[in-house]
Amino acid sequence: MVKNSDNVLFDSFKSGEVDIGDLSKAENSYAAGQVGHILQERISTEGEGGYSNPANRTESAFGKAHNTALSKEGSIVTSMLGKPYSPRTETQNVVPNSANTAYQYNVTVSYGSVVYQYSHSMQGSFYTGDDGKVRIDTSKPFGLGGTVLKNVKRIK
Ligand SMILES: [Zn+2]
Repeated sequence: MVKNSDNVLFDSFKSGEVDIGDLSKAENSYAAGQVGHILQERISTEGEGGYSNPANRTESAFGKAHNTALSKEGSIVTSMLGKPYSPRTETQNVVPNSANTAYQYNVTVSYGSVVYQYSHSMQGSFYTGDDGKVRIDTSKPFGLGGTVLKNVKRIK
């Protein structure tokens, strides 16, 4: 467990850390979906010894387990709110800070008609593409973590 770590956004599949600071900034329905997602992802991790074996925490194992976890998350959130099941979809836009070292992500998460918004930080090197969009420079070290800056609020 960590609290408001810049290296962990909700959780880290690789290290196993869960950020209770990020979870506490979300409404109950969203937080419940995240907790279910994290647990389902770990339950679904393939390989000898499952998630308990750090050697199984690979990119490809993550991809499969993450997809199963997205379904679980959608089913928890929509059933808590009495809405028809819908998987999670997400859009984000990235805003650089003045120091160009950390960027703010403004995220919209939807489960069908249910919509949440929040902002989080992320450390890394970024560049602006020809289309004017800011992207992570993956040739340099970057963290997939971050911290929730603005509470996760349900807007629909
Ligand atoms: Zn996941």
